[in-house]
Amino acid sequence: MISVEAALAKVCAGFRPLDRETIAIEQALGRALAEDVASQLTHPPTAVSAMDGYAVRAADVATVPCTLTQIGESRAGLGFEGEVKSGETVRIYTGARLPEGADSIVIQENVEAVSTAIRVLETAPVGKYIRPAGLDFKAGDVLLKQGRILAARDIGLLASMNVPTISAYRKPRIAIMSTGDELVMAGQPVGPDQIINSNSYAMAAYITTLGGEPVNLGIARDTEQSLRDTLAGAKGTDLLVTIGGASVGDYDLVQSVMNQQGLDLGFYKIAMRPGKPLIFGQLHDVPVLGLPGNPVSAGVISRLFLKAAMDVMLGQDPTAEKLQSVRLGADLEANDQRQDYLRARLQPDANGELTAVPFNRQDSSMMARFAQADCLIVRAPHAAAVKKGETVSILAMNIGRVGF
Ligand code: AMP
Ligand code: MG
Repeated sequence: MISVEAALAKVCAGFRPLDRETIAIEQALGRALAEDVASQLTHPPTAVSAMDGYAVRAADVATVPCTLTQIGESRAGLGFEGEVKSGETVRIYTGARLPEGADSIVIQENVEAVSTAIRVLETAPVGKYIRPAGLDFKAGDVLLKQGRILAARDIGLLASMNVPTISAYRKPRIAIMSTGDELVMAGQPVGPDQIINSNSYAMAAYITTLGGEPVNLGIARDTEQSLRDTLAGAKGTDLLVTIGGASVGDYDLVQSVMNQQGLDLGFYKIAMRPGKPLIFGQLHDVPVLGLPGNPVSAGVISRLFLKAAMDVMLGQDPTAEKLQSVRLGADLEANDQRQDYLRARLQPDANGELTAVPFNRQDSSMMARFAQADCLIVRAPHAAAVKKGETVSILAMNIGRVGF
C-alpha cells in the first residue's frame, strides 16, 4: 500500500497542462486562463465625477455660502469642453468627465440652483467626489493571472479591459466507465438484485464542476468481453475513470482486463479509508483512475485524486489547497495504519464556533450521509485518540470553483 501523499505525487506527475484555445469571454465562465491578461484600457480613462452635482474650484467654495455662475454641463458620454474659471461652475453627473480647471465636486444636495447661478451651502475640499484617471486600473496592468478560474466578475472585468477573447486551457475530456451486473440507470425498472448506477451521475457532475467534459461510456457488465468493448470508448480522451470491479472479488475484472490490454500500472491500493483499492496507470495514451465502486469511496477518492489530475490539466497548482483546522465535536479513537477521511458536519458549538462533528457510522455505501457532510476530517495513519474540543484537520467538501 502506498501513502496518500506518495499516490497524489504520482498522479500529479502523470498529467500536464492541456493545450490552449482562444475563446470569447461570453463562453469563458468557469474556464482556466492559460496566460496572464493585461488591460487594453485605463479605467476610468480620465478624471470623472463620482456623484451628481457641480464641478467647482475648491478655493471658490472655501467660504460658504457663496454664489457661482453655471457655464455649462458635463454628462456621461458628453463632457464639457471649456474651462471652469474662478467664480464659475459646470453642472456634472456621475461618470462624466471633470472639466478643465475644476478640482472638486459639490453634490447637488448641498446647492440651491437659481436659473444660471448656484448658491453653494457646503465647502468641498480638493479631490472630493472625483475619481482620478486610472483609479481602477491602467492600460498594461496585468489584472488576471494564468490559472485563474474565471468567475462572473472576472468576465465583467475582462470586458471593461476591452479584452473580448482569452486563451484558456482546453476542457479535459474524461471518460467514465461504470462496471457491474447489478447496475441500472435512474428511471429504469429496478429488479430485486439491482441498484442504480449513481456513481456515473455523480462523477459526470463533479467533472463538470471542475471544468471538464464528461464522456459517459455506459455500464460494462462483469465479463471480460463487455469490459473490453466498453474500454475501447476511452480512446482519445484525457483520462479514463473506471468505477467498481477494482477490488479482489471474483467479478472484479477491471484490472486484469486492462492488464491484458497493456496497462502500465503506476500503483494499486492506497493506505486510506475509504477507498483502498485505487488503480492508477496508463492504458496506451490514456491515464486511468480505477475507482472502487462504493459511492462514498469513489467520491472521496475523486475529491482527492480526480481533482488533482484535473488541477494539473487546467494549469492549477494541485498542492495549493491546504487542510483547515477546526475543533472536534466528538471524541475519536486512535487511528490504524490507513489515513482516514471521516464524513462530518460543521456545526456551531455553544460559543458559535464551528466544530466538526463526525457521523457515528462511516460506511462507504452511505450516500445520504455523504450528501449531508460539510467536510472530511483527515486523520493521519496511527493518529492518537482525540477528545472533543481538540483541533483536527478538515478538507472542505463544497469547493464550487466559481461564485460571482
Ligand atoms: P465493486 O467495487 O464493483 O465491488 O463495488 C462495490 C460496491 O459498490 C458494490 O456494492 C456495488 O454494487 C457498488 N457499486 C459499484 N459500482 C457502482 C455504481 N456505478 N453506482 C453505485 N454503486 C456502485
Ligand atoms: Mg462490481
